[in-house]
Amino acid sequence: MMHTLKLYATTASNSRGRIHNEPPPNNRTEYQRDRDRIVHSAAFRRLEYKTQVFVNHEGDMFRTRLTHSIEVAQIGRTIARALHVNEDLTEAIALAHDLGHTPFGHAGQDCLNKCMKDYGGFEHNLQSLRIVDKLEERYAEFQGLNLSFETREGILKHCSTKIASLLGSLGERFLQKKQAGIEAQIANLADEIAYNNHDVDDGLRAGLITIEQLADIELFAQQYELVQNLYPKITQRRSIHEVIRRMINAQITDILSTSEKNINDIAPTSRDTIINHSGPVVNYSDEMTRQTRNLKKFLRLNLYQHYKVNRMTNKANKIIQALFDAFMNDPYLLPPETLYCIRDKQVGNDDIRQARVISDYIAGMTDRYAIEEYRRLFNVTQLF
Ligand code: MG
Repeated sequence: MMHTLKLYATTASNSRGRIHNEPPPNNRTEYQRDRDRIVHSAAFRRLEYKTQVFVNHEGDMFRTRLTHSIEVAQIGRTIARALHVNEDLTEAIALAHDLGHTPFGHAGQDCLNKCMKDYGGFEHNLQSLRIVDKLEERYAEFQGLNLSFETREGILKHCSTKIASLLGSLGERFLQKKQAGIEAQIANLADEIAYNNHDVDDGLRAGLITIEQLADIELFAQQYELVQNLYPKITQRRSIHEVIRRMINAQITDILSTSEKNINDIAPTSRDTIINHSGPVVNYSDEMTRQTRNLKKFLRLNLYQHYKVNRMTNKANKIIQALFDAFMNDPYLLPPETLYCIRDKQVGNDDIRQARVISDYIAGMTDRYAIEEYRRLFNVTQLF
């Protein structure tokens, strides 16, 4: 049930529309339609076998990019509903925000960016946009998913001014230093809340970090102490889940009260007030900003740079670099439908075109597909 939306929420009536005009949908909103198109896309299904920190086959208990995106959508919807802004748009952005990620998490993206250094680079937010604008082939009438402007704007979270100048109206806000709509701001923070908390959960389960180490991290320690006092006989597994749940709740509650205060202060009367404001209106309090920063720093030092994760990163780099080099040297190793794309594209010189098609192909791979493809290409005892 949609609540009455505030004046500064994004709606179909203040939307900048779609690239290709379409008749309005029956029985659903424009942003529900965007959400549904994302859910039915091939890139969305592949999120099931892509990971952020762990490799997909390491265990069934860890988050994948699919479950991460669903958690982001859940947190985003909660905040959007409480602030009386557009839940459907928030959900659409949340579900699409990671579509452009390569296999093997950030290691994969950094390596592919290095491979693409002379051919325009690789950046996952831009790739998410490329997927919904160009690469999905699902409609007779247009390339991509033809999503609403505001969904695409939310997907393009960051962007350099150089790239922004190539993106037309979508790049404007980066050039003019304006904010995204409130729903995009919500999806952005929901992403952060989701991964900070589930990485603690997954990191503990994997045994890469310990509760003792987390004793210095207030966000965790405060809730942990509370749970131990309330339930002294609780099992460790249950207590971790109880703590994580309370951490998520504390962050959402903080965002809601801080954002409500910001909204009261600037008294926005339209979507434009939000966009033209000097900073995002959806935010943590200063104290929560400090605490989440400490948690992020902890995770960076102890989890993302753990030697076991580094070993995975090392392998991921090898796989992606080897695939890229092999396809650049001999594009006839590519499957025919991918090879055909190189001939099909009309812009850029041959090398740039070839590199971009290869980058799209590699970025689209799931972790397990990339590993299999590596075996198929380089294991001489495996025939196909
Ligand atoms: Mg994410």
